[in-house]
Amino acid sequence: MFHSQVVVSMIPLLNKSEEAENWVYIGEGNINLVVAYRGDDPTYKGKVLRVIKNCKNKKLSTQDSILFKKQFSENVIQLLLGEEYVVPMFPVHTSTEFLQTLAVNVESHRPAFRTDKQIVVNSPTSFFLDDLTQIWPNSPAMTFELKPKWGFKPDSSFIDMSNTIKKRTTCRFCMHSYLRRVPKNNFCPLDLYSMDPVRVQKAVNVLLKENPLKKTLSVSINGKKASLTSEMDQQLFSTFIEYNDDHNTLMRDILERVLLHDPILKILKSLQMNLDEIDIEGIYSFFQRNSDYFKLVTDDINTWIDVVNRYQQRLEMKNSPINELDEQKQRIYEYILSMTFKDCSLMINVTPTVKENNTSKSITLSNGLSFQYDIKVIDTDLKSIDKIPFWFELDQSIVRHAIDTEFDKECY
Ligand SMILES: [Zn+2]
Repeated sequence: MFHSQVVVSMIPLLNKSEEAENWVYIGEGNINLVVAYRGDDPTYKGKVLRVIKNCKNKKLSTQDSILFKKQFSENVIQLLLGEEYVVPMFPVHTSTEFLQTLAVNVESHRPAFRTDKQIVVNSPTSFFLDDLTQIWPNSPAMTFELKPKWGFKPDSSFIDMSNTIKKRTTCRFCMHSYLRRVPKNNFCPLDLYSMDPVRVQKAVNVLLKENPLKKTLSVSINGKKASLTSEMDQQLFSTFIEYNDDHNTLMRDILERVLLHDPILKILKSLQMNLDEIDIEGIYSFFQRNSDYFKLVTDDINTWIDVVNRYQQRLEMKNSPINELDEQKQRIYEYILSMTFKDCSLMINVTPTVKENNTSKSITLSNGLSFQYDIKVIDTDLKSIDKIPFWFELDQSIVRHAIDTEFDKECY
């Protein structure tokens, strides 16, 4: 069990505005902004700091809700994914003075489309985590950030008959890209998840060569973003490895081999599928009919520990009667977890090794080059239960549009 009192007493403090000068912007998502440490304090060396941003329609984060994130990561995500894939989170007290200066310092480095949300400057606690681009200090590293999205097609009896064929033919990602008018391309996440060398290579090839989906894959070398569309910068690449042949082919081979070698995509796919056995069409009907009865609580870690226990028992027993209200409530919670696993990203770090070493996390390519790798799953925050009606509406727009316009892509 997690004892917040003990942890709170050991938390370091980022207090003075001068300390903000040691942290440099490296990126941000919807909820968090991340800065990396460039100073000399051994407490923070090799670490990044994750600070929260303000969200419309969301109550201000309190100390409790921030610590909940840590509990959720340790007691739910880690249990489902496996400890090796989860980045430990260490709370740190952050003063308003520190956060205000940090907010000013990073502003000019932020992409314009993210600046509608600002750092919450009165958040009493933030987190520091290992800097995933510095896993092997003093060794060159290539980092792939991959957002694999949905790895399966639903096969639930709760899906309306008019949608069944479409949902079984085209995957959700391809239908959604089509609705969003993403330029036509040959990428399908089901290829990525297939564990079939030919299909994985095809998917990786499209992502690296055409890079139609910037949100799906980005690559950096020693922490510097590499451009995939223009010719890869020779100088940047040579800081990773001396290599005279085509860089793109080498990157493709590395990524393909790692994805085939490591079980992470298999783990993610089965979590997504098993936690979403009912499909949003069934989940929404449970939610609509019984939302008063359910009194769904999501900010208590014990609720989620129970949900995970029950989920694991269900997998062993197979059939549990879905018509019971209690089981429907369980399935709603499971669906929310599945949405986290459909939206997370993989940070895949790779470093050259002289020969294949004993660790299971290493690969050797057909050209004889060996690499060691490490994979972490990031962006695993709990999704809001209030989004269920939105997810249902979105699902229906996606499928309706594909049916109405006779979108005929087949995903396998
Ligand atoms: Zn597809």
